[in-house]
Amino acid sequence: MAEWTSKYRVKPGARVNLSKWNANDSSGFRDGKGSKEQGRAALDKLNDKLESQQEMLFAQRKHKVLIVLQAMDTGGKDGVIRSVFDGVNPQGVRVASFGRPTPSELAHDYLWRVHAQTPASGEIVIFNRSHYEDVLVVRVNSLVAPEVWRKRYEHIREFEQTLSDEGTTILKFFLHIDRDEQKARLQARLDDPSKHWKFRLGDLDARAKWNDYMAAFEDMLGKTSTDAAPWYIVPANKKWYRDWVVGNVIVDTLTSLKMTYPPSEEDLSNVTID
Ligand code: ADP
Repeated sequence: MAEWTSKYRVKPGARVNLSKWNANDSSGFRDGKGSKEQGRAALDKLNDKLESQQEMLFAQRKHKVLIVLQAMDTGGKDGVIRSVFDGVNPQGVRVASFGRPTPSELAHDYLWRVHAQTPASGEIVIFNRSHYEDVLVVRVNSLVAPEVWRKRYEHIREFEQTLSDEGTTILKFFLHIDRDEQKARLQARLDDPSKHWKFRLGDLDARAKWNDYMAAFEDMLGKTSTDAAPWYIVPANKKWYRDWVVGNVIVDTLTSLKMTYPPSEEDLSNVTID
């Protein structure tokens, strides 16, 4: 495991203060002196490694991998999915997006829709938002009472421990942008008609509650980062660095599984092809 990424991993039970985490950091790439162009070129090589690791995962059908992405609006969830997974075989990778729950989803417990989307053997599933919305937007907008959401940290730790015990490797990334960066990104969306589809007036409501969201993220990160399912706080103001950090953690974790291509189940030693 590349040691430098461990500084972004949240220790179980930590008290997280996001104002102390520098969203502009790029110190893990060439001691902070790397440029966007160098970072993108390095990411290309990382994409090749991810492609071959994912192919082995798919061929072996032994491990399951779950990647959770959470961020404020414009934090870069879509960008990470596009850039880090560029080139992987779509047969073995799936994105599950979690929006406002449907009436049927609301009629069940909040983990019901989530459990149904977890990866099968050989699969990588990326959660674009997740069960963590149930301690984020749900908490900030008081959609359930505090005594209801407060219990969820424990539910979630146990749910993820179950997945881990049953063979799922879990990585969770909080893409950390600061308030000024969000302003610039929202303004860029407003200024470009081809990006209006991404702009929701509701995003401004969430922005107005920035401090409440930071408090909810801080609790989430400290209370649900575990050895089985660690959170990484990814500096995300620089998009290239964000992708580089996420890509490295994923590639290192997949490499640590020491996967190999499975042998044929048949004896191929005497096969000749006419
Ligand atoms: P994104 O912003 O991720 O690109 P959308 O624009 O579809 O995708 O937004 C999804 C919305 O669904 C967000 O506003 C999010 O807060 C909301 N959402 C997700 N999960 C829940 C939940 N459990 N309860 C209420 N709202 C939720």
